[in-house]
Amino acid sequence: MQKIGHFIGGKHVDGTSGRFADVYNPATGEVQAQVALASQQEMDAAIANAAAAQPAWAATNPQRRARVMMKFVDLLNRDMDKLAEALSREHGKTLPDAKGDVIRGLEVAEFCIGAPHLLKGEFSEGAGPGIDMYSMRQPLGVVAGITPFNFPAMIPMWKFCPAIAAGNAFILKPSERDPSVPIMLAELMIEAGLPAGILNVVNGDKSAVDAILDDETIQAVGFVGSTPIAQYVYSRATASGKRAQCFGGAKNHMIIMPDADMDQAADALIGAGYGAAGERCMAVSVAVPVGESTADALIEKLTPKIEALKIGPYTAGNDVDFGPLVTREALARVKGLVEQGIKEGAKLVVDGRDFSMQGYEDGFFMGGCLFDNVTRDMDIYKTEIFGPVLSVVRAKDYEEALDLPMSHEYGNGTAIFTRDGDTARDFASRINIGMVGINVPIPVPLAYHTFGGWKKSGFGDLNQHGSDGFKFYTRTKTVTSRWPSGLKDGAEFSIPTMK
Ligand code: NAD
Repeated sequence: MQKIGHFIGGKHVDGTSGRFADVYNPATGEVQAQVALASQQEMDAAIANAAAAQPAWAATNPQRRARVMMKFVDLLNRDMDKLAEALSREHGKTLPDAKGDVIRGLEVAEFCIGAPHLLKGEFSEGAGPGIDMYSMRQPLGVVAGITPFNFPAMIPMWKFCPAIAAGNAFILKPSERDPSVPIMLAELMIEAGLPAGILNVVNGDKSAVDAILDDETIQAVGFVGSTPIAQYVYSRATASGKRAQCFGGAKNHMIIMPDADMDQAADALIGAGYGAAGERCMAVSVAVPVGESTADALIEKLTPKIEALKIGPYTAGNDVDFGPLVTREALARVKGLVEQGIKEGAKLVVDGRDFSMQGYEDGFFMGGCLFDNVTRDMDIYKTEIFGPVLSVVRAKDYEEALDLPMSHEYGNGTAIFTRDGDTARDFASRINIGMVGINVPIPVPLAYHTFGGWKKSGFGDLNQHGSDGFKFYTRTKTVTSRWPSGLKDGAEFSIPTMK
């Protein structure tokens, strides 16, 4: 059995805790590797190593640090097929989607090549008599990222690229379900010229996370995962004085106005609802058609498209629409929620629970499901299902439709499909959700903008990547300077003002 350890100080390191977790091939249901779960002592050693390497890296000028990112981008492109294959093998998503996962991270690395510009401070000449004032953004020291299973390439890169380009040393604790790609990324960073010890990948579960949260050297924690863990990480990290930004789960609504192009809206819902088997924090899981005739037309268009979805292993070719769920537990949980929806009185229009594929009977596959007549009191409406299940909640008018995502506890993404500019503008302005699409079902901002949800989808300050990524992993120091020729005689007892 293949054993996956850690990557510390620029080298592969075996786990010594004696604890391991199984890593599955979700398409076959087989255990394909075992990943080491770090103990507190192993995490402490990795942090000490990072702390020793960080000052020299911070002292390396930002243009040289940026060149490492430049080379890293080249290497990601060189190894794209290899990375995508490793990613699909452990996660289950299709190869084109796995490449998208790598490329969305690569784009953040590209953005970080601009670190010298992004880290430039501010300068005020003559802020007072003979006084100049300047501010600079300095790295925090050793910082950490804790990431989920569903984007094992993109989300680690959202975290470590800005942190490292800004001069920090980084401890990455990726998901234990698909740990291979994060280690491959760390190997590529070393090949790109990153000094050993600046990027460390420590695999593990709750013990490793708690060791990060309680450690006194680590200055900041960026987390992405489910909401209960995001909230836990945020409270414990901030209680020990760290900077924290923790992004959680979602329930993304797409409103379909009566004037929308129904074919476009249905296609958008199919891709956004079922792509990656619905295991995306920006997946659309609730469709809100406005008016009964819009709802009927939408259901009529969606039903045959869902029944025709191509489901299969990543090895079955690029025209597969989506693959298996990540684990047997995830599959059982999603099927259980579908059962719950039926019990609650929602109408299951398409039932994909019995999907099975010859030769892959033990894989974690299920077909697409479609619920109609879902109401806001149902568990399937309140809960993030994180599977290939779309719920239709019918709204009588725009105000009722708008109120659904506004009142939901999650606030990650949302979309509206309409041809009416006034309605779209009103929606974008009033909605209390972090990322909004207008005729765009999955409005994931590009690398030079920032990504972040509101309400229970995000805890803490600042978003991920873009300029916020640099702000989160740096702090501002402001210097006020006056040279001897500007000094006046005598002590000053009252606070200087510009009066
Ligand atoms: P998860 O919360 O189970 O795990 C996330 C991380 O937390 C992993 O590294 C895991 O090892 C660790 N962890 C798990 N249980 C823990 C515990 N009890 N104590 C401490 N650490 C623990 O999430 P997941 O299943 O890997 O990912 C799916 C979730 O992530 C979904 O809810 C999805 O919406 C969310 N997500 C959010 C975003 C976003 O930007 N808002 C992006 C991607 C995924």
